[in-house]
Amino acid sequence: MSDTSPVQFTDLNLPEPILKALNDLGYETPSPIQAECIPLLQNGGDVLGMAQTGTGKTAAFALPLLSNIDTALTKPQILVLAPTRELAIQVAEAFQAYSRHMRGFHVLPIYGGQSYPIQLKALKRNPQVIVGTPGRVIDHINRGTLDLSGIKALVLDEADEMLRMGFIDDVESILSKTPEKRQMALFSATMPDEIRRITKRFMTDPTAVKIATKTSTVENIEQKCLIIGGLQAKLDGLTRILETEDYDGVIIFARTKTMTVELAEKLEARGYSAAALNGDLNQAMRERTVSRLKSGQLDIVIATDVAARGLDVPRIDLVINYDIPTDTESYVHRIGRTGRAGRKGTAILFAAPRERRLLKAIERATRQPLTMMELPSRDDVTKKRIASFRDDIVKMLAGDENLDFYKNLTAQLSEELEVSELDLASALLFMAQKEKPLVLPPEAPRRERSFREEDRGRNDRNDRGGDRGRDRGDRPERGERPDRGERGERRPAAEMEVFRIEVGRTDGVQVKNIVGAIANEANINSRNIGGIRLHDDYSTIELPKGMPSEQLQQLQQVYVCNKALRMSKLEGVAAEGRQERSSAPRDNDRPARDGHRGQRRDTTGGERRESTGGEERRPRRPRRD
Ligand code: AMP
Repeated sequence: MSDTSPVQFTDLNLPEPILKALNDLGYETPSPIQAECIPLLQNGGDVLGMAQTGTGKTAAFALPLLSNIDTALTKPQILVLAPTRELAIQVAEAFQAYSRHMRGFHVLPIYGGQSYPIQLKALKRNPQVIVGTPGRVIDHINRGTLDLSGIKALVLDEADEMLRMGFIDDVESILSKTPEKRQMALFSATMPDEIRRITKRFMTDPTAVKIATKTSTVENIEQKCLIIGGLQAKLDGLTRILETEDYDGVIIFARTKTMTVELAEKLEARGYSAAALNGDLNQAMRERTVSRLKSGQLDIVIATDVAARGLDVPRIDLVINYDIPTDTESYVHRIGRTGRAGRKGTAILFAAPRERRLLKAIERATRQPLTMMELPSRDDVTKKRIASFRDDIVKMLAGDENLDFYKNLTAQLSEELEVSELDLASALLFMAQKEKPLVLPPEAPRRERSFREEDRGRNDRNDRGGDRGRDRGDRPERGERPDRGERGERRPAAEMEVFRIEVGRTDGVQVKNIVGAIANEANINSRNIGGIRLHDDYSTIELPKGMPSEQLQQLQQVYVCNKALRMSKLEGVAAEGRQERSSAPRDNDRPARDGHRGQRRDTTGGERRESTGGEERRPRRPRRD
């Protein structure tokens, strides 16, 4: 999406119904990863994409694969594997949004936790695309309810996450059950050895796609970042920033044309002089908007990357990236709309928790740190409003306006009403600020969410940014708990209970298998999974206190290493939570063996400890991505 990348969706050989859907969604141009991947995948090649959330990777595989689909065939033609049910649902929703004008097309997400009868019924509708979590896909294959013989293309999305969650064996087993002649795309933010091994074993001459990051200097621009997700939160954050930052002219970048219009309307309704600038406007209209911004008739323009290309308005001293850009080059171009001709400028970036990975790339590309900022508080806004009110009074008193009439009136009113001039001034101040109160109403207290609510929250379907205008950052992500601080600290031991599960070392189970199965099948945030201890024929696991009985019921049915967990509470056994013990207690169930007591990292990203007793999953360190 740079000045030198003129690729349009219409250049990409996409069928008319898909182009129409993209237009409905307000997508203006392909992101760099899309511009590269779409032709490669359309031509039947294998693609290895180094890309993370926020780059537009879903459309990068969904659009070309959709354009090659034959809606007349009744067997699944595309299989997408995703690490979590949330991602599976989102990817399926993206397919649905892109295919809304394609007749006879069906996509089906299949994931753990949803009842089999529902999935079986949906499978009978002959979906052409299946998006599933590995465990559930394996189950359907084993039950003979998912026929992979017609698969023409396969996608592994967020492959490194699948590895981290312990699904890599399942993934390999699924891959080996797909037809030999089929296309494959693999997307991963990182390329650990295990993923490379998969690419070697299962992919045919894949083209690696990685968006190059050029470094640029942006010395006179102060770069800040606010971690914020969810449409309402972003809008509130934006208005607070506009109230508290000092600026002359502002440009706000949004991802879609639809969003530029929506934001312009919302800001206008809040009293700002704002307008949208996007590719739907003709040249004359765009020029008019820019000249109004230049002359100060407009203070805020909300633009897409394309429309703001080359924009040179010296009074812009604040750039807000309301939606994170899809690549660093586009970020550098966006913030370069301020700090023109040696002036100073400020750039504020909104990033959803799961978009944190892109921040590092931006810091590398700009060779400057992003300063993390807090959302301006209610007090900050109040202080700012009082200060600007005060400035207005000072200006009025120092100005040319003759106030004699008002002075006399004040004296007269005070006498007539028998009130002091202080009381009178207070009443007038109150009346003067009524439209925009100087003191904001108190914030509703933040309530600690219950376990049940939290998991319901994670289940909530979420539209994608352009898709019906909502942002993917609405929900807390796997491993992220906004309600307990940025880093999503784990629960203390006192909030955990210990459960026994009927699968152990002799079944060949590993800690990561248990975490992956429980996280997906019972939809429990993996951060809520405490210590796991493996024994020979059973294991113990710490889970939050007060789990709903339906969730416990669901866990009874979860299979790991072909064995049902048959989970039961271990009464009277205390959880260890975050505590690190110097040595594990002796396991009476099994003879002591010559185990070493070292620590090594397991592939789930946690550390496990070998002891004479059992294998422990110590609570994972909070992830920072
Ligand atoms: P992804 O990286 O696939 O998770 O996509 C991130 C967000 O960007 C989603 O909300 C998409 O709807 C949106 N998106 C993807 N491609 C484009 C595009 N070319 N123009 C505008 N928005 C896009």
